[in-house]
Amino acid sequence: MTSSSLDQLDRPLEVLRLSLTARCNLACRYCRPENQDPHHLLTHQQRLKLVRVAAQLGCRRLRLTGGEPLLAADLLAFIQAVKAQDLVEDLCLTSNGVLLDRPMAEGLKQAGLDRITISLDGANPQTVLRMGGGNSFERVLAAIGHAQAVHLPVKINMVVMAHCNGDQVVPMARLCRDQGVELRLIEYMDVGNRNGWQPHHVLTAATMTAQIAHHWPLQPMGRQLGSTARRWRYTDGTGVVSTIASISEPFCGDCNRLRVTADGVAYTCLFASQGTDLKPALHPQQPDPILAQQLTALWHQRHDRYSEERAMASQQTKAPVRPPPPEMAYIGG
Ligand code: SF4
Repeated sequence: MTSSSLDQLDRPLEVLRLSLTARCNLACRYCRPENQDPHHLLTHQQRLKLVRVAAQLGCRRLRLTGGEPLLAADLLAFIQAVKAQDLVEDLCLTSNGVLLDRPMAEGLKQAGLDRITISLDGANPQTVLRMGGGNSFERVLAAIGHAQAVHLPVKINMVVMAHCNGDQVVPMARLCRDQGVELRLIEYMDVGNRNGWQPHHVLTAATMTAQIAHHWPLQPMGRQLGSTARRWRYTDGTGVVSTIASISEPFCGDCNRLRVTADGVAYTCLFASQGTDLKPALHPQQPDPILAQQLTALWHQRHDRYSEERAMASQQTKAPVRPPPPEMAYIGG
């Protein structure tokens, strides 16, 4: 059965974002992790069952997240198993890069990981420290090199908080041009309840691309359906830069992502307050169709479009009222 399930807004289920742990070895300002795992983490077999059934329902891409997924005990064995069973077309991972040394990069590549996204929020150690990245700047730079050395396609995520690292957009563009990697500039979002988000802390995608274009002319490439990134090509041929503009240019209309936490709770939106516990259906004695029914029913009733609602509400100068959503490190960003 490979039909793709459609939700209430006719959006297909195509991407599973699976968190492997809520623990992290950094404390980024926009996330502020608790650094502890929930009880009852999914087992290796439960994770595989989830990916297998999600793939039957149309999921073509699996993104492994956290907290910090490189902290997850059986990461390489899990990647190997997903690849060995040919469950998804694209298997990628988002990491802060701190643990990505050469042996880890080789291990991920050999296990079958298709690509990696590394977070780096500044082009110098002081900014990274200010952003909650500790003294990780040099290690993360080295991690980019390790990924490239083993031919693991790598992109860089940078969350831009106008009042903290807003001055780093052009220096980071320069660093990524020099490294030959795509920089993904992420508008700061009101994820979770701890980062003290305010609308005036957001540097919009339009502002960021204008800053870059002032130095290096850009050619728009647009945003692919279902993708979060709007991409721009440097006209001098030095690569691509992209923006994830959840605040100023929301992309809920074709959002095809389901998030599942490390303890098996499914969220149909990054900003959803209500999750669905999949653990009973993930029990080894439960046949796959039980989980397939639960996921299909969950997706069919989905109508989330929080970022669009936030954008509309901001025009009426009032924030959308919502119960507290889960923390970023728990839902996996
Ligand atoms: S706000 Fe929710 S529905 Fe909109 S793009 Fe993000 S996860 Fe998807």
